[in-house]
Amino acid sequence: MKKVLQDLSYEELCALVLSAGEKPFRAKQLAEGIAQGKKLSEIPVSASLRARLLGEFEDEPVKIRETFVSRDGTKKFLFELADGNLVEGVFMQYSYGNTQCVSTQVGCRMGCKFCASTLGGRLRDLTAGEILGQILAVNRLEGGKKGERAVTNIVLMGSGEPFDNYGNVVKFLRNLTAKEGLNMSARNISLSTCGLVPEMRKFAEEGIPLNLTVSLHATTDAERARTMPIANRYQIADILAACAYYFERTGRRYIFEYSLIEGENADEEHALALAKLLKGRPCHVNLIRLNAVKERDLKGTDERTAQAFLKTLLSCGISATLRRSMGSDIGGACGQLRASYIAEKE
Ligand code: SAH
Repeated sequence: MKKVLQDLSYEELCALVLSAGEKPFRAKQLAEGIAQGKKLSEIPVSASLRARLLGEFEDEPVKIRETFVSRDGTKKFLFELADGNLVEGVFMQYSYGNTQCVSTQVGCRMGCKFCASTLGGRLRDLTAGEILGQILAVNRLEGGKKGERAVTNIVLMGSGEPFDNYGNVVKFLRNLTAKEGLNMSARNISLSTCGLVPEMRKFAEEGIPLNLTVSLHATTDAERARTMPIANRYQIADILAACAYYFERTGRRYIFEYSLIEGENADEEHALALAKLLKGRPCHVNLIRLNAVKERDLKGTDERTAQAFLKTLLSCGISATLRRSMGSDIGGACGQLRASYIAEKE
């Protein structure tokens, strides 16, 4: 596999251009072309530089292989990487802007019982440029121009555990927020982790004040371990301490994801325990009814149970919202599309 030019920071592009004996302004042309989602062969540079680039780098490292449009307007993309691996991403349009959900690994090795991404384990990490490439491809398809591109918000909630691919994810975030890149604000980016405590602490020191989101889904370590194997390695108390450290370093409040699973974590007593756990912390809770995954034996709660859970949290003074499940008719939950696509082809 050739290298991925979209991996490079602006400084690295400058060094590349100089080493090719080209004028410095070529680096700016490259950065602009990349930000516009162009293939390398479409970026207007000198013929000699183009030939050199195409010899070393992939012309189009991330391609949209298929697009699925949901009744609610949500779009789901199946992206194809240069080695033929597939990852998926969802594009959701809201009144305040458009959110693109990106994948960070092909598959995942965290093993959460409710998640389709983890069914076949982790095949490989994505590079920084392959993560960025998903956004570039969607911007290219959906239109918009500099300063008002289609994708305004990013969530790292596709397949993969971002902190299990720490170096590439941090590089991606730096390139994404760089002024020569898409120049996105960290405030418009959310990173969701299953709670890798050492990486959460390290990330607090990177100076990237994004919306740190932790998948909690339970209120005790024992209950959490029933659906999330990672709970055998890190305790909720240590996750909460790492969140507090993140707040201390960045001033950003943090978010918990809590998927409501029938017969597992969605009773009144769970809501009260969650409220007790989070009381007084600068955080927000995102509730969502679990999207049933057919390969897994877990179901979401009904709407009434979800509303009751939300009401209990709110009455205890916890900031919380119940999110609509978007795109459930097109396999909106993580890994569902890739899993069904691969199954169909087999
Ligand atoms: N590995 C990261 C990010 C990927 S998953 C993490 O664990 O946070 C993004 C979110 O979707 C997580 O909160 C995850 O727990 C949740 N999720 C996975 N499968 C789901 C399903 N079937 N229904 C609802 N939420 C799901």
